[in-house]
Amino acid sequence: MMEKIKMTTPLVEMDGDEMTRILWRWIKEELIEPYVDLKTVYFDLGLEHRNETDDRVTLEAAEANREYGVAVKCATITPNAARMTEYNLKEMWKSPNGTIRAILDGTVFRTPIVVNNIAPNVRTWKKPITIARHAYGDVYRASEMIVTKPGRAELVFTGADGREERTLIHSFSGPGILQGMHNINASIESFARSCFSYALSLKQDLWFSAKDTISKQYDHTFKDIFQEIFEKEYSKSFEEAGITYFYTLIDDAIARVMKSEGGFIWACKNYDGDVMSDMISSAFGSLAMMTSVLVSPDGNYEFEAAHGTVQRHYYKYRSGEETSTNSVATIFAWTGALRQRGRIDQIPALEAFADALEKAVIDTIESGVMTKDLALITTTENPRTVNSLDFIREVAGRIER
Ligand code: NAP
Ligand code: MG
Repeated sequence: MMEKIKMTTPLVEMDGDEMTRILWRWIKEELIEPYVDLKTVYFDLGLEHRNETDDRVTLEAAEANREYGVAVKCATITPNAARMTEYNLKEMWKSPNGTIRAILDGTVFRTPIVVNNIAPNVRTWKKPITIARHAYGDVYRASEMIVTKPGRAELVFTGADGREERTLIHSFSGPGILQGMHNINASIESFARSCFSYALSLKQDLWFSAKDTISKQYDHTFKDIFQEIFEKEYSKSFEEAGITYFYTLIDDAIARVMKSEGGFIWACKNYDGDVMSDMISSAFGSLAMMTSVLVSPDGNYEFEAAHGTVQRHYYKYRSGEETSTNSVATIFAWTGALRQRGRIDQIPALEAFADALEKAVIDTIESGVMTKDLALITTTENPRTVNSLDFIREVAGRIER
């Protein structure tokens, strides 16, 4: 028996709900605890406990994330009307992810997990493409108006000193529509720093796209802020890491993405990121193969799967039926967190373990053993479809080897 890998700083562990909560325990027991002397600071973000604590547990978990730097989070229920009755809730608690993101002031990076027997719809893609979406402002915080009659529309800014600045938007001769949107330099700066710092940690090129040729002040400000922060704070480290940053027009970015091999980070404005992340994830194959990490501008990390709690599978599991739920994205949330912890604390064995566990997962799928969702889309003929726990055990067998 090998000696277990020691950790020096604990991970912040945020447990969650439904099927992913079941997978969570199996992943720890079967894949991590036999090899790592796992240290965590545990927070139960399961909906029952959030309700019992008036959601204080979510705030405490986010604070701990800031204190310790690296967290791993299980998928959690965002309550709606049906959950109010199902869990007899005191309040319709807010989305934990929203709460954590607000406290960490971070950017979410989504990356597909690539295996050779699930072919991306884009033939040239060989390596994952990570999307970074700015999560504040623009059309998501816009004010809108329906114009019903002829008239003038203007943008009016009233300074704190009472002085007004005005720009004509349009002189309407008939009905039309209007929209006013904004962003804040501080938020764009945080977004830029999160992107640069994540690119360095992955050692991958960073692309940023917008439409500054048309939006000469709004989008141009995004471009300028990125460029200024890059030159002042990051260009040296990028050079040392052998990676590049470049800005390009959104149309050019899309054309290049479609012809690329992948293997880079694509930073997008809020709307572009919303739309493009669905394109990237579906073109790579499956939401169950997509990881997600929240990175704060000061370098705190929260790793999770991009999918939800897989409610339908949980109800089957609870009634004693067999499920074939894909645990890959949740396993990769753990490996991401362990690797980052290993990097910060300089424990090469922990980083190597994370690499080995990821390789065991990929080798298992590439050998033709997979859960049902993947069996439906794989290029492997006659894959062996296994249930939720057997998949995890197959992976465990490979780590052992
Ligand atoms: P979901 O949990 O992502 O599942 C939607 C469907 O996608 C499933 O029914 C399943 O399809 C398939 N699927 C997703 N993940 C899978 C996996 N790992 N393995 C196999 N199939 C998978 O989304 P939802 O049902 O809309 O949401 C359920 C709960 O999750 C909600 O309460 C929502 O608030 C929460 N949620 C949380 C997060 C988060 O914490 N980050 C994110 C999204 C949603 P089939 O049923 O066809 O097999
Ligand atoms: Mg969307």
